[in-house]
Amino acid sequence: MNVLDECIEMFASLPGVGRKTAFRYVIHLLRSNQREMLRLREVIDKALQELRECPVCHSIIGEKTCKYCCEERISGGVLCVVRDFRDLLAIENTGKFKGSYHILGGLISPVEGIGPQHLNIQTLENRLISQANPVKEIIFALGATREAETTQFYLFKRFRNLVPQFSTLPKGITYGTELEYTDDITLGGAIENRIPLVE
Ligand SMILES: [Zn+2]
Repeated sequence: MNVLDECIEMFASLPGVGRKTAFRYVIHLLRSNQREMLRLREVIDKALQELRECPVCHSIIGEKTCKYCCEERISGGVLCVVRDFRDLLAIENTGKFKGSYHILGGLISPVEGIGPQHLNIQTLENRLISQANPVKEIIFALGATREAETTQFYLFKRFRNLVPQFSTLPKGITYGTELEYTDDITLGGAIENRIPLVE
């Protein structure tokens, strides 16, 4: 494969980028001055060196400490469980949630062969067992798919003796839509009007 094809392939492998757009990116870079190319390399190098996953909440961080795991956020004892980092960002954008997060890294899906052991559930358990920062409430913000319901049910059963209160986002609002695509006002309202989970 020549360098041109390699460049196109690389951009085309990014989510939401087809071969046509990838080709446009490559042409743009070729036409731009060298400084822009070097800057791109610099940013990628920096990201490779500095971006990492927070060992507690599994968010992606570029700083020494995780801003979602700071004292101010964990001291309230409200923990929001989400599927991935994009969902965390969607909730952050609403500005309605000031607690901490836990990213599962996916949802339980027997069809796809994804079980609890493939997700960040052990680290969640460690957090719930830890006496340092007691969790008073878990909010499930996993969307409204069958996989989300299965995951929520599993976590509720597994941790109901460790956490006093569980809640979930109203079904009518998020049903059939991915959390990421729910608008800020709707999602913000859903967090404020979350429904307590009972047996
Ligand atoms: Zn964190």
